[in-house]
Amino acid sequence: MPFADLHLHSRYSDGTYGPEEMAAEARRCGLAAIALTDHDSVEGCADTAQACAAAGIEFIPGVELTVEVEGDELHILGYFIDTQNALLLSQIERFQAARQNRIREMVARLHRLQVPLSEQSVFVLANCRSPGRPHVARALVQAGLCRNLDEAFERFLRRNRPAWVPKFKMDGREAIGLIHQAGGVAALAHPGLNRTDAVIPEMIEAGMDGLECFHTKHSAATAELYLKLADRYGLLVTGGSDCHGMSKGKPLMGTVRVPCGRLEPLRARAAELRRAALLRAAP
Ligand code: AMP
Ligand code: FE
Ligand code: FE
Ligand code: ZN
Repeated sequence: MPFADLHLHSRYSDGTYGPEEMAAEARRCGLAAIALTDHDSVEGCADTAQACAAAGIEFIPGVELTVEVEGDELHILGYFIDTQNALLLSQIERFQAARQNRIREMVARLHRLQVPLSEQSVFVLANCRSPGRPHVARALVQAGLCRNLDEAFERFLRRNRPAWVPKFKMDGREAIGLIHQAGGVAALAHPGLNRTDAVIPEMIEAGMDGLECFHTKHSAATAELYLKLADRYGLLVTGGSDCHGMSKGKPLMGTVRVPCGRLEPLRARAAELRRAALLRAAP
């Protein structure tokens, strides 16, 4: 049976693989399809699509948007999005500008702590439009200012540590609407990590299409719980490894996957949404 891993990060956010490595790794894992879901970015989609096409892997353009619902940070996955959609691109640009300012602010805080990390070194290392804390951590290690990533997070970057800066988040409803108008389906990422089941009904009301039932950090019991919930609310089911390449120790691609049959209802829903968007745009 062919399988798909629908949650992957590349070097265009906080993963380490470039497009060629994504496709090669997908082949090595025997996957038939992958979705790229970088944090607040679609920068890698075009090149990864090309690399996947050359490798005979189906590519699904995706994104993982950082949102806030009732004060909690949640992640919304978008699949089958049009990565050229003007509104999506302009909102993502806002996100990325905020992420870049956040890097500057984190570096300024490090300077106040007498940690001489250069802003430039973080941006050079990140080499993408959607930099985040992992890049600051890697730059700290590279500069010899921390022994390893854990130390960087523990001493400086974790929530409420001295160099932590809150992240820009989009409103949850707004994110779902943004994905829909770009012709994509919206799914709540790793609900078991957030334990924010209470917000699921209001996300459904806002049009959320699916739930990421299968995830690296979901136990079998957690997956079962969300499968039941998806069934009860008529939500589509997604799943993926949330692989970040080599940046979290071992690469996870393919360790969590769904049968490609799960893609069909997602594709059908996306087609419906695109039709609705076209009708709205029609005179
Ligand atoms: P950001 O989006 O900038 O807030 O960074 C979030 C990323 O940092 C996620 O990919 C996390 O997995 C990663 N992260 C959070 N805490 C740690 C940690 N203690 N060690 C390594 N990575 C972490
Ligand atoms: Fe990440
Ligand atoms: Fe996430
Ligand atoms: Zn992720």
